[in-house]
Amino acid sequence: METSIVGTGYVGLVTGVGLASIGHKVICVDIDAKKVEKINKGESPIYEKRLEELLKKALQKKLFIATTDLNYAVLNSQITFIAVPTPSKKNNDIDLSYMKKVSAQIGSALLNKKEYHIIVVKSTVAPETTLKVVLPLIEKYSKKKTGSGFGLCMNPEFLREGNAVDDFMRPDRIVIGEIDKQSGDNLAKVYKNFETDIIRTSLSNAEMIKYTNNALLATLISFSNEIANISEKIPGANAFEIFKGVYLDKRLNPVINGKRVNPQILSYLYPGCGFGGSCFPKDVKALVAFSNKKKYKPVLLSAVLDINKKQPLRLVKLTEQKIGNLKNKNIAVLGLAFKPETDDVRESPAIAIIKELVAKKANVFTYDPVVNAKNTHLHFKNFPFDHAQSLHQAVKNKDACLIVTNWKEFEKLTPEFIKSNMANHLFIDGRGFFHNKESEKINYLGIGLGNKKGASKES
Ligand code: NAD
Repeated sequence: METSIVGTGYVGLVTGVGLASIGHKVICVDIDAKKVEKINKGESPIYEKRLEELLKKALQKKLFIATTDLNYAVLNSQITFIAVPTPSKKNNDIDLSYMKKVSAQIGSALLNKKEYHIIVVKSTVAPETTLKVVLPLIEKYSKKKTGSGFGLCMNPEFLREGNAVDDFMRPDRIVIGEIDKQSGDNLAKVYKNFETDIIRTSLSNAEMIKYTNNALLATLISFSNEIANISEKIPGANAFEIFKGVYLDKRLNPVINGKRVNPQILSYLYPGCGFGGSCFPKDVKALVAFSNKKKYKPVLLSAVLDINKKQPLRLVKLTEQKIGNLKNKNIAVLGLAFKPETDDVRESPAIAIIKELVAKKANVFTYDPVVNAKNTHLHFKNFPFDHAQSLHQAVKNKDACLIVTNWKEFEKLTPEFIKSNMANHLFIDGRGFFHNKESEKINYLGIGLGNKKGASKES
């Protein structure tokens, strides 16, 4: 099928390259001309496993092009996916300005198109957005109605950054929210070779499935962090050990043919320094804002956000607990990406941590295996820090090293390595690296670990 995709970010580019790699003809559109040029040269503007390799192949097979011309893309395809940003506004509501602009542009393009066209909202939007915001704009600018003129679907994306290509190609499920059967049938054709469950539902249910999914996972993370924070008050407690006991509950981790399933959901029941990224924080905020507008106070989801806002700062508190006033202390922040295997730093816990360290006048040094100082600029502007080129350089001669992202490379920080290379260095563990190693040999404190005397004095 000839498809066009508006927005070439994590979702748009992965969708475009993914669809091209299974034989669809794809035109990707972006307003960023430099990005478009790069993509057409076979260079991925984002770091995702296999993305660049598949992009190059799709370009060679002439199944994929990128352009800044949305009109061209709509006129030369049968279906258009919208994958533009839906960021948080100051009041936590979602900013629909990108969606509105693109909906109007697609509508205008359809004015000059005789054939039936399908529009698919892939961006994450609050319930009723597709019906009450996108649809009226397309109708207004195209002067057409759904049914005869165009079809409309809401098809949320569940890919995880760091595993985006694989998640897109082998999804857990495909949710097709449809305004009518004809629209859904057409979108289902795009996915006909995907072996997975397909849920056909209403537009609002599809929108809500995405929010509910992210809200549940975010809740598990904040729940784990709350348990970790309580555990820190118990002398000698270890939240990781506590969760190990919980993981064995058959309702969480069934035994099938005598073997534990160990479902992935357990990895969300794991203490740390909080969730970040472009989705969980913004989506939970948007669901809270949506509920409030509907005159329902979502107490649980507000608490999830509240815990998450404070969680990264616990790393700074643990550091102070160990070395006192941070003024002029040399502190390494290990990991800038909000999670491993991505270069995305949006809403990364590292931002709150660096900001707090800078406010306390510490000298901040950072290291990340993938994120370089250049792509941090936008998110960390006005925070002075030095970016190290290697893990060794980052941790050398520091008063404390804070582990913020659980990059595999940080597994090098074994007690032996630390002892022989960095005697007396203090580690503040935000990702459970040291909880089950021979940690006694290291000078460290960690989230979820009550110290011998009775843990953190901070609330
Ligand atoms: P992104 O910021 O990485 O990319 C968005 C792209 O859209 C950018 O390249 C931008 O230049 C482009 N764009 C903006 N306005 C445009 C316009 N008028 N015309 C053409 N292009 C335009 O965003 P993303 O992370 O891919 O997220 C897109 C949507 O998908 C959001 O709603 C997000 O919540 C949702 N989502 C994201 C993820 C994720 O892991 N990143 C997962 C699932 C869903």
